[in-house]
Amino acid sequence: MKNFFISFLTFLGMLKNAFYPKKKNKIFIFHEIEKKNYKKFYKVIKYIQSKYEIINPEKKFNTDGKVSQAIITFDDGFLSQYECTKKYLDKENIKAIFFVIYDFMNINSKKKHREFLLKNLKIKPQYINNKEFKNMNFRNFQSLIKNGHTIGSHTLSHPNLKKICKEKCKIEILKSKVSISKKLGVKKINNFAITFGGINYFNPYVLKLCKKYYKSTHTGIRGSNNNSHRVFFRENCDLNKDFKEIKFLIDGYADLYYVFDRIKLKFYNFISHKC
Ligand SMILES: [Zn+2]
Repeated sequence: MKNFFISFLTFLGMLKNAFYPKKKNKIFIFHEIEKKNYKKFYKVIKYIQSKYEIINPEKKFNTDGKVSQAIITFDDGFLSQYECTKKYLDKENIKAIFFVIYDFMNINSKKKHREFLLKNLKIKPQYINNKEFKNMNFRNFQSLIKNGHTIGSHTLSHPNLKKICKEKCKIEILKSKVSISKKLGVKKINNFAITFGGINYFNPYVLKLCKKYYKSTHTGIRGSNNNSHRVFFRENCDLNKDFKEIKFLIDGYADLYYVFDRIKLKFYNFISHKC
């Protein structure tokens, strides 16, 4: 069934490209990268490079150009992301955004670390093995900043922003910006990534705060960023999926499936200033 679905959407996407060719601007998200997937990560980056021009996230997408462009982002602040950046991205001179959870960045005990993964990141216990899912430390972040990567905020404690009260929501969105900036010595944190990312994890009020305090807000809704809005679609790359499926997502053929989420986001955007 899944294979049929992928083939069907690919067919529709190719048909659309043939009759209505349009360049795509994509932002890709990576989470924890298991050691066994390091090489696959590089393979995926190379595939993205073959389809898109990977730009520095400090630059804006070229909305009238002919070349499809991409930005690489990492959520949550795992050590594996730092290692893969050193090993692969820095050699290719690719700059990325690292969305940091302030509380997670400050953890240095194994017990608290595990508790955070289970409670705040909602990672199932069977996926947490002893050696992986480690968080980056202060030194790792310093090295990334020195090499020209961008630091963004991913809240203080990674809550479901839709489920907390308005006051708490403001603290998570605004205080994380101030605290991360102070801790890492970054002058301005301009990018924010919504936790869990999908349309069901935020509301117009959350969006209002994000737009108020950040230049760019990153969702986890799949789609292409073809206009100059400040709220962005992103494409999650799960490296545990097989390469064929990852390619399908990178090519943007899953976009059609998320059309209603994008319409809902437009509506949220429209009414957010009234909240
Ligand atoms: Zn996250």
